[in-house]
Amino acid sequence: MLISYKYRAYPDATAEARLNTALDTCRWLYNKLLEECTTAREAGIAPTMRGMQARIVTLKEENPFLKGVYSKVLQMVNHTLWSNLRALSQTKKRGRTIGKLRFKSASRYRTLNYNQSGFKIDRGHSSITFSKIGTVPFKMHRTYSGEVKGVLITRSGDRWYVIIQAERGASESKREGRSVGIDVGLNAFAVGSDGAVIENPRFYEHSLDRIRKLQQSIARKQRFSKNWKKTKRKLEEAYEHITNQKNDFLHKLSRQYVDTYATICVEDLNITYLTENGKSRGLRRSIHSASWGRFYSYLSYKAESAGTNLIKVDPRNTTQMCANCGSIVKKDLSVRVHDCPYCGFVADRDYNAAVNIHRMGMEQPLEPVEMQSISQPGKSSISRAVEPIPLHHVSVMQVLAMKQEAPPESAG
Ligand SMILES: [Zn+2]
Repeated sequence: MLISYKYRAYPDATAEARLNTALDTCRWLYNKLLEECTTAREAGIAPTMRGMQARIVTLKEENPFLKGVYSKVLQMVNHTLWSNLRALSQTKKRGRTIGKLRFKSASRYRTLNYNQSGFKIDRGHSSITFSKIGTVPFKMHRTYSGEVKGVLITRSGDRWYVIIQAERGASESKREGRSVGIDVGLNAFAVGSDGAVIENPRFYEHSLDRIRKLQQSIARKQRFSKNWKKTKRKLEEAYEHITNQKNDFLHKLSRQYVDTYATICVEDLNITYLTENGKSRGLRRSIHSASWGRFYSYLSYKAESAGTNLIKVDPRNTTQMCANCGSIVKKDLSVRVHDCPYCGFVADRDYNAAVNIHRMGMEQPLEPVEMQSISQPGKSSISRAVEPIPLHHVSVMQVLAMKQEAPPESAG
């Protein structure tokens, strides 16, 4: 797991001038590659990341400034572009109407990404030497740990920051097995840090016609008559059916998470309710929160019996924080895409939150799972593992179908 540590940096005038030139050059490259990708697509040619990588070499003849930037930094510009394109197409697949990837203006392109190489950290002197830039001192207000995988240097107004990305090794990892962070939301029922987008169940909406008809029928009948009682019973059954479907959905979904993961991180809903977290607090939210509460309690007791860790994290900033660099990127409820101006990370809003929840949960010390009193534990079922592919849609029907397709019949 990659952890980012952000520090204030103090480049001297020479280094700052070089940084600004390098930023301008990288921005030019980003926009140039984006433009060429778009042109190629319009001509019916599918551009590839590798092809664009090769294009950087020939572009160096067109723009001599490119030679003044460390080559791996240029590669990362292309890398960022492609990860942004992927994030955008995934959000589109979820049915969101969003525009094309936009060209970066100077104010939105502020980060140089030194990945794996081209930098040397001097911990003793609190400075980092960047290839083609020079030595930049920084204020190490807290120490970092783990194997350093890369360093970002980013501008915010007239301030500079370095972001050290370190990998926490297996020996430092607190827990064994796979882990996941889950963000419950309004648009999707849940989004996992594994990329699973669980559709919101709409059982009530689906039964609404039938319920309305029964209500009208009751209104026309004489109170306490035989037919009135019969129709009223039908209405009660319709409501029961909705409750059962909902519970079935929540049981199967929680079962799948518990069977798949050794550690599950979620937001603490009790705290969510008291804090503004970019989520609406109106009626829609309160209707959903009942389902979330039940989902959590099912997760909790299933986790307890399966030996899975359920970790609740403080929900503050899980939506606003950039999962890639830790910067706070303010966004209101209507903003569906997290687009970080500090590091260039673009992702679905809820996916960004799920990754934050996952990371925060894994950083917390392990606490015993709270036992919740549940009258009717769901029957256990074997469920399919969630594939770790970023953002794949899971429909309500798929969740409900889990039990049926689980245990294979033994032949003869
Ligand atoms: Zn960021």
